[in-house]
Amino acid sequence: MQTVFANGYAGRESPELAFTDLLTGLGNHRRFYDKVDRLILDRAEDPAPFAIGILDLDGFKPINDLFGSKAGDDILMQVAMRLRASMDDFSTVTRIGPDEFAFLYPLVFSEEAIADRARMLIEILSAPYDVGERTARLSASVGCSLFHLGDETTEILISKAETALYQAKRSGRGKVVVYTREMEEAAKRVTRIEQALRRAVSAGEVEPHFQPIVDLKTRRTVGFETLARWTDRDLGMISPAVFIPIAEERGIIGPMSQLLLRKATEAARDWPSHLFLSFNLSPSQLVDQNTGLHILAILDRTGFDPRRLEIEITETGLMSDPASAEKIVEDLRRCGIRVSLDDFGTGQSSLGRLREFHFDKLKIDRTFVASLLEDRPAQHIIRAILAMCEGLGMDVVAEGIEEEEQAERLVQFGCAGGQGFLFGRPVDADATLGYLRDSFRGAQRARAV
Ligand code: C2E
Ligand code: MG
Ligand code: MG
Repeated sequence: MQTVFANGYAGRESPELAFTDLLTGLGNHRRFYDKVDRLILDRAEDPAPFAIGILDLDGFKPINDLFGSKAGDDILMQVAMRLRASMDDFSTVTRIGPDEFAFLYPLVFSEEAIADRARMLIEILSAPYDVGERTARLSASVGCSLFHLGDETTEILISKAETALYQAKRSGRGKVVVYTREMEEAAKRVTRIEQALRRAVSAGEVEPHFQPIVDLKTRRTVGFETLARWTDRDLGMISPAVFIPIAEERGIIGPMSQLLLRKATEAARDWPSHLFLSFNLSPSQLVDQNTGLHILAILDRTGFDPRRLEIEITETGLMSDPASAEKIVEDLRRCGIRVSLDDFGTGQSSLGRLREFHFDKLKIDRTFVASLLEDRPAQHIIRAILAMCEGLGMDVVAEGIEEEEQAERLVQFGCAGGQGFLFGRPVDADATLGYLRDSFRGAQRARAV
């Protein structure tokens, strides 16, 4: 029988090819498994540990999109060359996925030593790459695990390195993580949260809370941002900073978001009609062309005016597939929905993006507001953002305002919109109605005086 391997090799030529990655000439995933299998057999009687690692290039796909796939291939070949050159006679590096490499160090015996080696690899890969006339830079994350006698099989060893890699990726770019038992516990907790969240979403138990967004000068509420809240029977209250990334990674974000939008628009229907509702979309939702349809179907069903809805997206949401994101954003805008750029100034912000995409509003990230009073650079940055937004015809909201003085300073700078604990914390639908009644009475009293 003829076997067709993932690298395109169809089994009849040299068997060596079946173990080779055709692009880079390194060994492939079969070579890697084979080497680890053999080493485990060799060590059957030997107490010496050994180490493996999986290295994943950070943000390779955007580079591929930006420079083209031919340039992407060139970069991968340069990466492979650098990695191969950094191996000693005993060690092996292989390419096991599109932008994933695995290495085996038979003579590395400790967690510190493998972490050092991995950091060195990251360092080597961080030097610029020639792409025709231009240069590109890359970072990489690495997950490592150590084999101990009698402990495990190749599959378990690799899955531990994958768990470590997953942790490394979650904690940012360019990180090295060596597998530990606590990590296994953490991975189990993520799975527990995932299962509980799936159940909660089908039972409709994730709730929208609402935080006021105000006109900074008059302090009148102009709208509310929807923020997801979830309390599980067994796990207790879980922060969105924890469950949103899990929902994104495990494919629950779509149904969760639809549930929240339905509940939020049902609640917002009872508010005065000049108030808008702001709603966060996750990066993965901007890759799914059904997102726009789902949103419009929900608005249709709940009878909520699309012109009162704003969608908040982050820069990351535009990066992985800009064309797809643009199409979704344009579809929404055509129906009157406004689009704002959230958390501006963090992560991978690029001013170029503001030329390509049209946003109705920009939200200045709260890290700038937090250091506004002490920090002159933060003041300059905020003023520059405000000037830029004025030029581009975008509204602005400063996030995370906690102190009166911050609000005053922002008004001096000419910032029109604000959001933060100073004006109100996120609260549920009933409490939001209470808040609106109170502020209505407050305004009536002020008029009477
Ligand atoms: P975000 O969209 O930037 O939301 C603002 C976050 O800042 C909220 O955190 C809010 O509670 C918090 N915040 C507001 N004012 C203040 C303040 O004065 N001080 C401080 N320290 N924090 C303030 P939260 O609710 O924990 O949400 C965190 C993030 O989770 C959100 O950041 C958003 O990215 C995401 N998220 C929340 N709900 C949803 C959702 O329904 N869908 C999606 N895709 N993401 C959501
Ligand atoms: Mg937001
Ligand atoms: Mg934000």
